[in-house]
Amino acid sequence: MSLLQLDNVHSYYGPSHILRGISVTIEKGEIVTLLGRNGAGKTTTVRSIAGTEPPDVRSGTIRFDGTDITDWPADDIAMGGIGVVPEGRRLFSELTVEENLEMSKITRGWWNTIRRGGLGGDDSTMSLTELYDLFPRLEERREQEAGTLSGGEQQMLSIARTLRLPDLQLLLLDEPTEGLAPQIVETVGNSIEEIASQGLTVLLIEQNVREALRIADRGYVLDQGDIVYEGSVEQLENEDLDEYLVV
Ligand code: ATP
Repeated sequence: MSLLQLDNVHSYYGPSHILRGISVTIEKGEIVTLLGRNGAGKTTTVRSIAGTEPPDVRSGTIRFDGTDITDWPADDIAMGGIGVVPEGRRLFSELTVEENLEMSKITRGWWNTIRRGGLGGDDSTMSLTELYDLFPRLEERREQEAGTLSGGEQQMLSIARTLRLPDLQLLLLDEPTEGLAPQIVETVGNSIEEIASQGLTVLLIEQNVREALRIADRGYVLDQGDIVYEGSVEQLENEDLDEYLVV
């Protein structure tokens, strides 16, 4: 069974029909990339999977580990094991690195307290120690305000924060290398590979084709809300897809 399966998904913003019947499959343990130009519908795909509104998925199905989550609210999807690292990072800029990480420690116990009156400890996918092992730069800067970090450090923090969710299985990364210097792009890419090697499955949304193909196993190309190509990294590298991509 695939970890994630989108089957003929159509998404809308009000009357605007954006995703026009996309089908995407991700197997456990894979890094899959979704490529496409500005406005192709990449963020809309992330939001459709994560249940964050808008957009509105009006037809098709989204299955996660065999369960139909198409109509689930965003919080349940997050608690069910799908984490989103949003475009634009969205950190608490006046809080320190460590405060950002602490704030994001949403435990299942805390969740149960709200939902069902239970209590619990820290069940983050990664502890602070594990996160600092993964991103030593964040440990060096643990007392620094997030708003004063470099773009690359902010991206690391944004990824690290999502890894505080409990029981993550699938990480959706929306253009994590956007606006970063080439050397930092590689650092962030290496961290994503490291996260995947620890057992997380990754959907990597990118305009940076070179970096995406460096770390992904397989990819899809989205254009005007349609999947226009899918294949292995080798196939994507050898295909002339310039009209759909920023090259
Ligand atoms: P980018 O790389 O620029 O983020 P993208 O591939 O992620 O592009 P989307 O953000 O998914 O593209 O946008 C797809 C289309 O949906 C665009 O035409 C955009 O204008 C439209 N759109 C996005 N958000 C909304 C919204 N909240 N309301 C109406 N239309 C929207």
